[in-house]
Amino acid sequence: ILEGRGFKGPGGLDYVLLDLRHLGEEKIDERLPHIRELAIRFAGVDPVKEPMPVRPVAHYSMGGVHTDTYGATPAKGLWAAGEVACVSLHGANRLGTNSSSDCLVYGMLAGRQAADYAMKNSIREVPMDVVEAEEKRIFDRILKGSTGENPYHIRREMQSTMGTHVYIFRDEKGLKEALRKIKELRERFSQGHVADKDLEYNINLIHVLELDAMLEIAQVVVASALNRTESRGAHTRLDYPKRDDENWLKHTLISRGAEGEPLFSYLPVTITKWPPAERKY
Ligand SMILES: Cc1cc2nc3c(=O)[nH]c(=O)nc-3n(C[C@H](O)[C@H](O)[C@H](O)COP(=O)(O)OP(=O)(O)OC[C@H]3O[C@@H](n4cnc5c(N)ncnc54)[C@H](O)[C@@H]3O)c2cc1C
Repeated sequence: ILEGRGFKGPGGLDYVLLDLRHLGEEKIDERLPHIRELAIRFAGVDPVKEPMPVRPVAHYSMGGVHTDTYGATPAKGLWAAGEVACVSLHGANRLGTNSSSDCLVYGMLAGRQAADYAMKNSIREVPMDVVEAEEKRIFDRILKGSTGENPYHIRREMQSTMGTHVYIFRDEKGLKEALRKIKELRERFSQGHVADKDLEYNINLIHVLELDAMLEIAQVVVASALNRTESRGAHTRLDYPKRDDENWLKHTLISRGAEGEPLFSYLPVTITKWPPAERKY
């Protein structure tokens, strides 16, 4: 696809064609029924009759909210489990099906601890000034203020930027371009443009709030990838193809500074039974 030998897809999402016709309908229905259904429903292509379009997609976020091994976050009284959390058991590349086990195991551990904590502690006073500031941000500034461009255009540009430069193969030039573009998009997003002013069931407002968060996360993902001058797990730098344990066997931890700027720090990796080894397959 990168060498231009793919087929043109909508929104720059080029693809290659996978021909399964030699398997025959019976085998496809027996072994790949969901694949057939997906191809028919989403691409309008029946793999029994014609080659189907395929391309790599991101289907997991390694990393997430920093937690301990029970899912407790540094914020007292807040637990995280599942894909949103970073218990660090997946390293730099989650293996297939391990998300389900992560959700089940850490969902249980975090859930039990959170329930236990809730039973033993009374409800803490909510700092009303923080609640009011957040209400003002959402309803006065974002919903009523509605500055910035059409959020759906910005979202599409963000997707295409991340899909082009922060995808499977990365390099300094592309990552710098992505960082510049994401910062530009954050400016164009401004405080968010919400066309629908309804206070009830406002999906448009939810999309804008989500986009606000996604742009912030996109920026730290790009900046972390730019800083990490090595290849590790799913992070493949064409300009730094080797893993560099001497400098980079560490977690990137990002927190938000007083002005909303990302603050970078690094945490050591806890190695128990299996030290990291070169991947040879
Ligand atoms: C195409 C694809 C294939 C995959 N295949 C596999 C596989 O074979 N094996 C495997 O182990 N894993 C697989 N995964 C990964 C796995 O599906 C996910 O990691 C897992 O489902 C995450 O579960 P979760 O409950 O942590 O998060 P989610 O399933 O993302 O659930 C989070 C929920 O929170 C809701 N939410 C978000 N924001 C708010 C809010 N502000 N208020 C209230 N609710 C909110 C969302 O609507 C969502 O329902 C795959 C993922 C994809 C995309």
